[in-house]
Amino acid sequence: MRILVAEDSRYYRKIIETVLNGWGYEVVLAKDGIGAWNIIRENNRPQLAILDWVMPNMNGLELCQTVRNSALNSYVYIILLTGMDKKDDLIAGLKAGADDYIVKPFDEQELKYRIQIGQRIIELENKISRLALTDWLTGLLNRRAFMERLESEVYRSWRLKSPLTLIMADLDNFKRINDEYGHLAGDKVIARFAAEILRHIRKYDFVGRFGGEEFILCIPEAGQIQALEIAERLRHETEDMQIKVAADLAPLSITASFGVYTASSQVFEDSNTLIKKADDYMYQAKTQGKNRVSPGQSEL
Ligand SMILES: [Mg+2]
Repeated sequence: MRILVAEDSRYYRKIIETVLNGWGYEVVLAKDGIGAWNIIRENNRPQLAILDWVMPNMNGLELCQTVRNSALNSYVYIILLTGMDKKDDLIAGLKAGADDYIVKPFDEQELKYRIQIGQRIIELENKISRLALTDWLTGLLNRRAFMERLESEVYRSWRLKSPLTLIMADLDNFKRINDEYGHLAGDKVIARFAAEILRHIRKYDFVGRFGGEEFILCIPEAGQIQALEIAERLRHETEDMQIKVAADLAPLSITASFGVYTASSQVFEDSNTLIKKADDYMYQAKTQGKNRVSPGQSEL
C-alpha cells in the first residue's frame, strides 16, 4: 500500500519514511500542504495520508478540510501527526475531518497499528463502493455507475471536440429463455453475453448492464464506422455462441439487437438524450426483424 506523508521537517520526513518502508509500505513524500494536495488530487492517489499539522502553504488542518470538501472518487484515510497535544487541538483535528490523531514524538508501534486500522477501513470502503457500482451477476457497471461515468465522458467529449458513440444492446426473445429453461439458465446467458461484450471493447470503452437483458456500451473518441465495426462483430459472435446452461440440455443459441448512436462534437447532446437515441435505434433494429445493428448519428 502507498502512504502519503506530508511533513515540512526534513528530520521527521526521514524518520517516518524509514519506519514505513521497514513495514513494507511505499511512501510518497510532500514537503508542504499544497504539495500534498496536488498528490491527493491525482486519480491514483494514496488512500492513506499522514499529515503534519504545522506546515507552510496550507497546514494539515486546512488540508483535511479541503480533502473532505472535495468530491474525490476514493476515500482518503487521514492521520494527523503533530506536536499539538492539547485536548482542544485533538478536537479541532477530528472536526476538520481527520480519522485519527497521533502526537509527536510518536511511538512506532502505535503508529504501526493505527495505520493498520486505517488499512482495514480503506479495504472496507473500497469493497462497499465496488459493490455499489457493479452489477452482481456480470461484474459490469450498474446503471447508476454507468450514468455517472457517461456524464463525465460526455463533458470530456465536448471539451475535446471529439465524437462519442453509444451502443445499446438487447438480447432477442430473452423472455422465452427464462420461461422455458428457468431464471438460472437466463442468468447464465446474461453472464456469457456480458463476457462476450468485454472481449470486444477497447481499453477506454466502458459497459453497463442497463436493465435485465439490456446493455449499454460507451465508445469514446470513436466515429460511427469504428463503433459499427464493434457492434457488428459483437452481433456476429453472439449469433455463433453455444451456451451451455445445464448438463442435460443442448447448448442454447441467442441473438441480440443493437442500436448505435454517434454524437457529433458539434452538437451538444446530453447523456440522457444520447441514451434515448441509442435506445430508439435499438428498438428500430427490433422492429426490422432483430439480430441486426441499426445506426444513427447527430444531425448537423
Ligand atoms: Mg511541521
